[in-house]
Amino acid sequence: MIQTFMIVNRSAPRVLIFEPSSQEKRKYFASIYGRKKCSRKTLSEIKEELRGIRVKNRKEMDKNVEKFKKTLSMHGLFKIHMAPDPESLIKILKENTTGRGPISLNKSNVVLNEIRPYLKKAGFRSYIRYFSEFENFNSQKKFFTDYWMLPGLHEKNILETFDLEASIDLSKDGKGRDYISLLGVNAASAESGNIFFLQHMSNIKKDIEEASIIFFIVSTEKVLENDLEAKIQVSSTGIFGLESVILDLKPKEEEVFDFKSLPFTDKKREIHVIIFDNGRNGLLSTPFSDLLLCIDCRACARQCPVGQYVPQVKEFVYSPKNLLLLQLQGRIGPFELCLHCGRCEVECPVGIPIPELLWRAKIDYYEKKGRSITKIALDDPELLAKIGVFFSPLSNWVTRIPFVRLLMWLFPGIHFKAPLPSFSRQTFRDWYRRRKKNG
Ligand code: SF4
Ligand code: SF4
Repeated sequence: MIQTFMIVNRSAPRVLIFEPSSQEKRKYFASIYGRKKCSRKTLSEIKEELRGIRVKNRKEMDKNVEKFKKTLSMHGLFKIHMAPDPESLIKILKENTTGRGPISLNKSNVVLNEIRPYLKKAGFRSYIRYFSEFENFNSQKKFFTDYWMLPGLHEKNILETFDLEASIDLSKDGKGRDYISLLGVNAASAESGNIFFLQHMSNIKKDIEEASIIFFIVSTEKVLENDLEAKIQVSSTGIFGLESVILDLKPKEEEVFDFKSLPFTDKKREIHVIIFDNGRNGLLSTPFSDLLLCIDCRACARQCPVGQYVPQVKEFVYSPKNLLLLQLQGRIGPFELCLHCGRCEVECPVGIPIPELLWRAKIDYYEKKGRSITKIALDDPELLAKIGVFFSPLSNWVTRIPFVRLLMWLFPGIHFKAPLPSFSRQTFRDWYRRRKKNG
């Protein structure tokens, strides 16, 4: 299917929206019955192809961004902006949206993690339209709440397939409802200027058809050389990210807003493209440059054993890579809950060594900022054990006093119900020798 993929109209950039579909699967199974040659790529072949594209793209990031800008400006459909950081992006929004309605957001990591907190600070009202698209909203429904409930599609050798659901011609005049749509794109093609999305609900298509002012947010690493590469990247985001989507299927009532009830405006639809860097270019020459290979599929979040319990989950779209990027952008501290189990690296389709990068970022952070006394103490369990042993059995008695447990919970953060080890002066060797001697 990838080889036969063609863009209908190459003259003006279009928006291409992909959705999960059984079309490719049907063709494949029909070919088996019809004894025709129709092969499907295996998971490892898809990963290899994707990594090749991403590594090439990282080398050509600046070149692709320049070409993308040039292609877009040839058609004059969009207002093109460059935003090196969230503050300048907010300035662009303010200058171009005076007096306009609420903002509809898609569920993109870039939009929700890197832009939304600044939108809130600037006083914009924003909603994730994805959640408004859940029909028959029913809070009694059972949803997947943790990673072990996931179906494990790849382990069963089941690969989701994606097909082009909509190809939207932006050159047609349109008038929309009185609201703004801010959409983080999954990929963009420097050659054609086409913008690619992956959608699971119909939120993106509806926003493009209905909003009176649209901002496409293109983070710099998402601009690829051509349509074929962009299509492969978008499909891969779906294939590797499907289970993270399933994990996220929890309706959020506070996000539901009826955009369809807003009135139509008389003004002509405006379309903007904001090319957003937010520190990405600066990563190129650092040990963290592998983060620029990321396609934001969130497969790394899929089986992270601590993912559901990190405090930042409520505030941001969680993935180990997202937390690492936010730390490098100076927004949060190091990811202390990481167990360095390595699952995220195993799951990552482009092989980013996330646990190693998390270590490195943590070391850099504490070298720069210094460590608190609590952290110094907890980072050295051997020293704590020696002190506990030296003062035992007093240390065992003290650490069982409820007031002391409360202090330990408040300051170093050790939960008052967490079982603590008992300290003993007798070493294991002494215990064994005595036991042997006594028969
Ligand atoms: S290494 Fe850390 S971030 Fe990665 S899966 Fe394990 S706990 Fe999660
Ligand atoms: S780091 Fe995470 S989000 Fe990025 S490509 Fe790897 S698995 Fe996907």
